[in-house]
Amino acid sequence: MEVRIYGGIEEIGGNKIILSSPNRRSIILDFGKSFSREEAFFQYPFMPPSFPEDYFKAGLLPPAKGPNWKMEGYDTLGLMVSHAHLDHWGYLPMLHSEIEVFLGEAALRIIESYRAMRRDLSGLDRLKMSPFKTGDVLNLGEFSVTPIHVDHSIPGAYGFIVECCGRKLAYTGDLRMHGPKASMTMDFIDAAASEGIDLLIMEATKVAPENDPESSLVKVLENRIWYKWRRSPPKRVSFEASDEKEVGEKMIEILERSNSLILVELASTDVDRIRTVYEVARKLDRKLVMDERTAFMVDKLSELGVRDLPRKYFVWKRRKGKQGREVKFSSNESKVLKEFLGKVEDEGGEESLIWGGRRAEFFRNADSYLVVTNNATRFLYEIPLGIKPEIDFVMSRSEPFSEESALSLDRLLNWLLLYDVRRYYRVHVSGHLSPYQIKEVLDAIDPDKVVPIHTEHRDLFDLFVPRRMVDSILLPRVGEPLVI
Ligand SMILES: [Zn+2]
Repeated sequence: MEVRIYGGIEEIGGNKIILSSPNRRSIILDFGKSFSREEAFFQYPFMPPSFPEDYFKAGLLPPAKGPNWKMEGYDTLGLMVSHAHLDHWGYLPMLHSEIEVFLGEAALRIIESYRAMRRDLSGLDRLKMSPFKTGDVLNLGEFSVTPIHVDHSIPGAYGFIVECCGRKLAYTGDLRMHGPKASMTMDFIDAAASEGIDLLIMEATKVAPENDPESSLVKVLENRIWYKWRRSPPKRVSFEASDEKEVGEKMIEILERSNSLILVELASTDVDRIRTVYEVARKLDRKLVMDERTAFMVDKLSELGVRDLPRKYFVWKRRKGKQGREVKFSSNESKVLKEFLGKVEDEGGEESLIWGGRRAEFFRNADSYLVVTNNATRFLYEIPLGIKPEIDFVMSRSEPFSEESALSLDRLLNWLLLYDVRRYYRVHVSGHLSPYQIKEVLDAIDPDKVVPIHTEHRDLFDLFVPRRMVDSILLPRVGEPLVI
């Protein structure tokens, strides 16, 4: 079996792994968007990658023929998506419709929800997507693929064990051992351990030096604010929790004496965090408000059977305008979103939708609400003129940067300053394996060779592996074939 890795090498995310047999048949593991590489060459909305060749030129996708992506010279039998984070599936709209996509049921529903909200994902409509369950065996030509559930910061996350030509490969996708469903990760590790794995492709997101450029960038942005405006940036107070329960406890500690509006930014697919914040709102006796996209995602996941998600809540409607005035729905409003908001009003009454004149009403009682959003900058920008609420802001997502742009943090800090937020809190527990657990996983699976992926610092990986395995680490270049 030949393994080639495109994306995820010296970057967090963008994973694309091509496995091929001597008969020139292949399968693909993940088809992730490379945020950092895209940002290095393109800019939304003025100069986005628009043609397939733009993706090839910048090395975002391996070169291929035709308007839709398909490998030349190989018969591609299927593409597996490990989970529904964009850095693992974001280039699917470019994929040729001949290639069937396999993924978990929850991942499929999340991707469908993204599609319902975003026009730019219309390429997904062409694809055949088939759900699998943990332990299924997918037989695709000479490949047999077993997906096994893992715990990550999104439901429906899987690792894979692939067998072909008498060789065995395991791919972790993204996973963690300190999450609420750690036993699922253990199921994957146990299954891989019992197989005798020749090559393990392993996430190493958290392997980073103390002066990691990502965190240095936060410093740079803060300094910039000082030089530009001669104002100190809001002070960031960080609490890195060791598990989800501690995230809730910390938030309550920080917020229990708050007389202000509480604003929490999180990832709309991080159901564990949404549950935690819901619980925090209840304990603080605050009414929960979710922005429309987060509420929509929560609704879809509840339908799928994800339990204990918020049932009673208010929805902060995204502001839409016509000739400078706010209207309830714009003409290009997504139909499914409109239906969803109609349902919210039917069930909770008109006041459950916060828009237009109701916004000012809302701010009169701001201290009785807790607002959850996946885009705090946008919420701040939608506060009506003349209203200056006091705000306690909590950043509770994995990365300081939203997917749109690294500089969005810059903008968030400016908006916070505009509302006199002098300090804010970061309360979080990572969705990824801690570097100290890498050794534990490798000891258990004991693969012949290991490739670290989904990290900017793979050159440090050797510090975290069992001593006997230092020489088993492979660091292939982008697209370099590994034969196992
Ligand atoms: Zn992920």
